[in-house]
Amino acid sequence: MSFRLSKRSLQSLSGVHPDLVRVIQLAIQRTPVDFMVIEGLRSPQRQAALVKAGASRTQNSRHLSGHAVDLAAWVDGQIRWDWPLYPRIAEAVKATAHELSVPVVWGGDWPSLRDGPHFELCRKIYP
Ligand SMILES: [Zn+2]
Repeated sequence: MSFRLSKRSLQSLSGVHPDLVRVIQLAIQRTPVDFMVIEGLRSPQRQAALVKAGASRTQNSRHLSGHAVDLAAWVDGQIRWDWPLYPRIAEAVKATAHELSVPVVWGGDWPSLRDGPHFELCRKIYP
């Protein structure tokens, strides 16, 4: 079974770096767990509000430049935040990124404050 990006997901990808878009567009066909793109490009105003609310730690988010996306697991018609779903999505995204030679970092691999929905282009290659 292969999934497709919803209209909302495609809208969320607008303004996102084309290499990251390519990865997500292919990863949706490979993932064992359906997902929705809930956020891509973020305005400085929204970032400041998220930091203030404690939902983000940095004013220097990769979302501000369109180098990051947040994916939400979509199971049985609803968004699920259950942690075990996210490594499965990440595995598909990582394999696709590798295949396309686009270095992508998963927030779930961060040593502290893991961010399962978050994927971003590697800063070294995509400053
Ligand atoms: Zn994010």
